[in-house]
Amino acid sequence: EVPVPGKVSTRYDLEKETELRFEVESGEAVEQIELELLTGMAEVFGSELNRNKKYTFGAGAKIAVFTWQGCSVNLYGKPEVAYVSKDTPMLLYLNTHAALEQMRRQAERDNERGPRVMVVGPTDVGKSTVCRLLLSYAVRVGRRPTLVELDVGQSGVSVPGTVSALCIERPADVEEGFSVQAPLVYHFGSTTPGTNIKLYNKLTSCLAEVYSQRCEVNRKASVGGCIINTCGWVKGSGYQALVHCASAFEVDVVLVLDHERLYNELKRDLPHFVRVVLLPKSGGVVERSKECRRDTRDEKIREYFYGFRGVTFYPFSYEVRFSDVRIYKIGAPSIPDSCLPLGMSQDDTQLKLVPVTPGRDLTYHVLSVSSAEDGEEGARKGIVESPVCGFIVVTNVDTQTQVMKVLSPAPRPLPRHTLLIMDIRFMDSK
Ligand code: ADP
Repeated sequence: EVPVPGKVSTRYDLEKETELRFEVESGEAVEQIELELLTGMAEVFGSELNRNKKYTFGAGAKIAVFTWQGCSVNLYGKPEVAYVSKDTPMLLYLNTHAALEQMRRQAERDNERGPRVMVVGPTDVGKSTVCRLLLSYAVRVGRRPTLVELDVGQSGVSVPGTVSALCIERPADVEEGFSVQAPLVYHFGSTTPGTNIKLYNKLTSCLAEVYSQRCEVNRKASVGGCIINTCGWVKGSGYQALVHCASAFEVDVVLVLDHERLYNELKRDLPHFVRVVLLPKSGGVVERSKECRRDTRDEKIREYFYGFRGVTFYPFSYEVRFSDVRIYKIGAPSIPDSCLPLGMSQDDTQLKLVPVTPGRDLTYHVLSVSSAEDGEEGARKGIVESPVCGFIVVTNVDTQTQVMKVLSPAPRPLPRHTLLIMDIRFMDSK
């Protein structure tokens, strides 16, 4: 054991099937915590730890180090909380993985498709963590599952306000999560599906279609199946969105975390061949406050522009003339049915592209750069269903000179000229 200078170190000896849970204080300039595996074997959310390697966790991290066989670990620094728990649902989660793996084997044998799994439950029950665990276990046994991220509030893949899909090729990195290369991302524009449920369902269908097309040409992707992470909104339209998702993806398995009523409702409303399974949440899952969620969202955007940990990006700042871009918001404010023009439905208004005239109020808004081909009216049709090729943030608007200044991950010019505005704002404090 080589002590880390200036930091207290605490040793934990863990018995088999127990976990050490710890939290790093949130806020700025907090002391990071290092974790080191000394003996035995252990994993963090499904990714194995290497012995005698120090893993660093920064502000706000909430971590569980689980061991199947027993191990000892060291923590360097003073975490906000640290305790050992013997009471974890990990065995149930492992059994779930085993059942999914069984389905993949069968799919391989019978030349069919692997399990499509939807993970549902209210906020803060560990949905994302269960997804990560199941994906890492699958990839560790040689599968190539797909992560479908429908949580527009706390996306693990892209910036908030998006839905996306990502092929998983290796287990999540212990410190950084899944490596995000070439995800398929769609613009939603806000952090809750309720802002535009029609659009949300439409994008779910788009992702399902693209995924199914990929399965047709890629056997490994098809056998690997997918794990779909959803939003914590499970009532009313939120519930309907889950039912829609189950049908769009033709899911085979639904894992309901810690919500018996939701479990019963889905059992009642989904076709009988869908296996709906109720799983307990882990006692370790930490509830996050509104502020905490907002900070996480902000951090996600910051990472997009400035990089993360070892990797530093240097974003560009340049001017864009209003006349060179077309900015749209998806969805017109809803109006009473009786006031709709003849032949138009609410659907049309929610999926409508509304041109945005750039003004001061555009400042700090995140804009998605649509991959839709530039061009006039004709091209406008496909914009909602087109993936996004990147994001920019408006940092200043000059209505006099008709120019706005943007923060961009790439140098000028913009790759495309169709921009979609998000409700989400980002203030660059660098
Ligand atoms: P959800 O997706 O349902 O909102 P998450 O999976 O994001 O919930 O979990 C919420 C927080 O709890 C995350 O910060 C995660 O790292 C933490 N967490 C999950 N499981 C555990 C555990 N067993 N011990 C400690 N922290 C955990």
